[in-house]
Amino acid sequence: MGLIIFIVVIVVAVVLLKGFDSVAGRGPKQVKDGINQSRLSLKEVNRQPCPECAELILPAAKKCPFCRSEIKRL
Ligand SMILES: [Zn+2]
Repeated sequence: MGLIIFIVVIVVAVVLLKGFDSVAGRGPKQVKDGINQSRLSLKEVNRQPCPECAELILPAAKKCPFCRSEIKRL
């Protein structure tokens, strides 16, 4: 009886591993999307408000893309 239970456990484990393989096939893409989202949010965080219109713009911007005013950095 113990051997039969052991075999059943192995079969279930193999089926679960195959299921995990299919999930792992999609895993890296989801992880990559998550990294892209984190990069996007990081980019958003790095943006600074325009002194003229207060829209968030890149710190390196010399002209605001929203109000087209020149950004003067100290
Ligand atoms: Zn502006």
